[in-house]
Amino acid sequence: MKQYLVKPGAKVKLSKIDPADTGDFKGGKEAALAEFEKLNGKLEALQELLFAEHKHKVLIVLQAMDAGGKDGTIRRVFDSVNPAGVRVASFKAPTAEELDHDYLWRIHKQVPGKGEMVIFNRSHYEDVLVVRVHNYVPPEVWEKRFDQINEFERMLAESGTTILKFYLHIDKDEQKERLQARLDDPTKRWKFRLGDLDERKRWDDYMEAFEDVLSKTSANYAPWYVIPANRKWYRDLVISSILVETLEGLKMKYPESEENLEGVVIE
Ligand code: AMP
Ligand code: MG
Repeated sequence: MKQYLVKPGAKVKLSKIDPADTGDFKGGKEAALAEFEKLNGKLEALQELLFAEHKHKVLIVLQAMDAGGKDGTIRRVFDSVNPAGVRVASFKAPTAEELDHDYLWRIHKQVPGKGEMVIFNRSHYEDVLVVRVHNYVPPEVWEKRFDQINEFERMLAESGTTILKFYLHIDKDEQKERLQARLDDPTKRWKFRLGDLDERKRWDDYMEAFEDVLSKTSANYAPWYVIPANRKWYRDLVISSILVETLEGLKMKYPESEENLEGVVIE
């Protein structure tokens, strides 16, 4: 799955990356699902270990266009983990109080503590995406944010946080289908916002903004992955496998009891 990693310093051109890529699973959604189930079980065990060891902090950042699959990813990839050790932080348009502070203020409050896994559904990257596309602040303000974000994430990493960032890559046709489904399906309508259509008109501006994000803020200590996301089953599989591989790489161990349990007999 390393092919989806954005190498630090590499210039990303999203039009050159196939959103419908299904890797080694060309004909095989069934095979992919079987593989996914295995990873799901591993993730469950790794998350328990993370919690028990109480040493590492894990931060997962999800960014995508509207209907890109952030909610679905959270629902599917994390459906086996214990809710006690996982938290989702969703970042909407900032409140008045949040706007009175620096843009990282609300973000920093939500980062994971020891033993915790936190999923960011949108993140500080909105402050160089929607904010840039809509000119909410002038370029001289948002341009500085790439360095600021890199330093912020470096600080988190040096404080024991494992950071993984996923850009869910869909194409404009796929977005149209998904927005249409939201419009047509009464159980999905609540997700449809007319404003999403305005954002859709700015697709090219967003792609440019995402390319800058991916090119300027992928670091060894906080890598970006561009996840082919037109096929939901492949998206979930790729994210699960990167997550499992990364967590296995932490070489976590169940801690010993803090008390001496030698010879303890339970009557
Ligand atoms: P959703 O994720 O569909 O619930 O939508 C959340 C909305 O909040 C999206 O339209 C985002 O673009 C918007 N949003 C999130 N963060 C920011 C930000 N820092 N500034 C402006 N809008 C934001
Ligand atoms: Mg939305």
